[in-house]
Amino acid sequence: MENYNEITYTKEDADRFMLRLEWVLTYISTISFFALIFTASFISMPDISRVLLIIAGFVIFAVGIFYAVRIEQIAGYYECQNCHNRYIPKYSSVFFAMHIGRTRYMKCPKCDEKSWNKKVLTK
Ligand SMILES: [Zn+2]
Repeated sequence: MENYNEITYTKEDADRFMLRLEWVLTYISTISFFALIFTASFISMPDISRVLLIIAGFVIFAVGIFYAVRIEQIAGYYECQNCHNRYIPKYSSVFFAMHIGRTRYMKCPKCDEKSWNKKVLTK
């Protein structure tokens, strides 16, 4: 029992850390995206450099968001507001769901109802 509690605490701690990391990752990807696009738009340089900067901006943004959504999918759980089931959704469900911050409009695998699912750290 002692051991089990310790493992639960460690996972919750790791999840909390990962969700902070998600925020940092999103912030850095977004800032670098705008910085590269603005640099390509307003600084005088050859066209090929502009194109490469814009491509780099999009690639960094896409990779950053891909991993941010991945963290959000697997760190902690989502709680259904209908039946209060806590679960880990599929990547595609998280990716395509409408969201306000970390609260996402998704279908619960248990009751099959759509609701605004909240991110929670414990099962
Ligand atoms: Zn449900």
